[in-house]
Amino acid sequence: MLKIENLKKAYGKHPALDGLNLTIKTGALFGFVGPNGAGKTTTIKILAGLMRPDSGTVIINGVDAGREYRKLKGLVGYVPDSFGVYDNLKVWEYMEFFASCYGLDGLMARRRCMALLEQAGLGDRADFFVDALSRGMQQRLCLARALIHDPAILVMDEPSSGLDPRSRTEFKELVQELNEQGKTILISSHVLSELAQMCTDIGVIEQGRMVMEGSMKEIMERVDHSNPLLITVRSDMDRAMAILRSHSCVRTISIKNDCISISFTGDSQDEAQLLQQLVDAEVQVTSFYRQQGNLESLFMEITDHEDKEVLLYEGKPDL
Ligand code: ATP
Repeated sequence: MLKIENLKKAYGKHPALDGLNLTIKTGALFGFVGPNGAGKTTTIKILAGLMRPDSGTVIINGVDAGREYRKLKGLVGYVPDSFGVYDNLKVWEYMEFFASCYGLDGLMARRRCMALLEQAGLGDRADFFVDALSRGMQQRLCLARALIHDPAILVMDEPSSGLDPRSRTEFKELVQELNEQGKTILISSHVLSELAQMCTDIGVIEQGRMVMEGSMKEIMERVDHSNPLLITVRSDMDRAMAILRSHSCVRTISIKNDCISISFTGDSQDEAQLLQQLVDAEVQVTSFYRQQGNLESLFMEITDHEDKEVLLYEGKPDL
């Protein structure tokens, strides 16, 4: 298990991490999401041992990363967002160089490197120069290299940025395969739909703090629940508004393009009763439905603080 508590890091006076808390269960494929500048790379660099936090703790499988620095290096495999330049190395030399950095050499190192290259779909490229590989292949090589010491946790900083759709899919399948084989993985990305398809858990970071965290199932339930009910009426707007204002499940009401949008805490039965109430009051309802949402819409809702709609009413939360 990976547990981050109250992690803080500032660049000069500018705080990049402002008390970050985060837990990743063993075996999880954790999607780390946040807008530009939220603190994802800073967090990942601290996890990879490339940067020290100002304060806070990082515990990985019982090892305090701040105190046991060498152990941390052995526990974590790191895939950065951009591939380094290794013009004059062949693929197998590149792998064996990194193997030697972790004290692996000889036949054992060769076997491990070849097995990882095979798994990354690069078995037939061992004799190629690294810079002759496509961007997608280079990123898979980078992933194979990060696994050389069989780390408990793999951390990846937007590893599929700049890849074409086919390479993204191949990379995603490789990541899922590793997770199914038991690797705990943290992956940051801006492509939320991609994370939604592959991750078991999601954490959203903003301004150096975790603003939402949970299993994919919980988050998707929240997506559904957070979607507004959209109602349009042909006439009798005032009567409709009076009914909505007095309804115990209605939290906020706003109007956008002649459509009433309400945040509604009730379930489908409550929705049906509300519709019935409007019809019984002879309001001519022309449409009534829950807006379809997805992870992107929830992300925008959490990280976008500009109110674009006119808020007409805000109900009291349940006590
Ligand atoms: P992105 O998605 O754009 O890569 P991020 O979520 O990875 O962003 P970080 O790169 O961790 O965010 O940056 C967090 C904050 O720290 C940002 O405001 C950034 O400008 C600042 N920052 C990052 N690195 C440095 C640095 N070396 N010197 C000064 N400020 C920095």
